[in-house]
Amino acid sequence: MKICTFDGGRVGVVHDEAVFDVTDIFFPDGLNVPWPYPRGDVVVERLPQLRDRLAERVESGAERKPLEAVKLGPSVATPGKIIGAPINYQPHIDEANADKEINHGKTYTRIDDFGLFLKANSSLAGCDTPIDIGFTDRRVDHEIELCAVIGKQGRAISYDDALDHIAGYTIGLDMTVRGKEFPDFRKSPDTFAVLGPYLVTADEIADPNALDFELTVNGEVRQKSNTRDLVFNVQRLVEYASHMYTLYPGDVIMTGTPAGVAPVKSGDRLVATIEGLGTLATAVK
Ligand code: MN
Repeated sequence: MKICTFDGGRVGVVHDEAVFDVTDIFFPDGLNVPWPYPRGDVVVERLPQLRDRLAERVESGAERKPLEAVKLGPSVATPGKIIGAPINYQPHIDEANADKEINHGKTYTRIDDFGLFLKANSSLAGCDTPIDIGFTDRRVDHEIELCAVIGKQGRAISYDDALDHIAGYTIGLDMTVRGKEFPDFRKSPDTFAVLGPYLVTADEIADPNALDFELTVNGEVRQKSNTRDLVFNVQRLVEYASHMYTLYPGDVIMTGTPAGVAPVKSGDRLVATIEGLGTLATAVK
């Protein structure tokens, strides 16, 4: 099943290039959500128990909109946290160590020497919102990444249980200002966490660690790899992250980027594709 958020606060099931509005199934009493707001994303949390009803809506031939006609929001609207893996493909570690503008005097070794980072939730954007780099004259790079979305709360999750905690997958762009500052700061400007085009539920992805993916900029291939080359694969990342903090439904793990990172400029068109997850097309404002 493919789930999108669209048109400002609507929830949809994507089927045959159409969007079925299922907002009322998630929020039968309207959008008067509880407060304090639950940790995590309510749509992702409710997904397992509502799946049959979502499928019924698609079967029923209900009213729909063309996928192209809606404004897609981020695949997860309100993740509790967006977790990043900084150095998780060896060729990217090599290119980072070879480029002073990326490493700024650091020597990258292994992911478990550096740990993970968090991107601010306010950096979230859907693919129909242009990436805004206009506030800085610094180098800003693209990073295409497979993103795993947590579906079931857990702490200290074992490697063998990890996939049971994943609701689904989506494409991410971990946009990054290069510089000396901590990654949490450089990777958190508004629109620097693009998630799209939609969340693909885990049952549709046989093996998240065997997905071809690529990113083009203005039609030219910049990054191309397969998730089998992840240093920490999806299970290991869930295990590693959850030994530090509880993972909640809707939390996003951006799994890291392969080689080929490079600066973007105003007007660039970025098209990211991951096998089974569709195509995320966006532009730099
Ligand atoms: Mn990254």
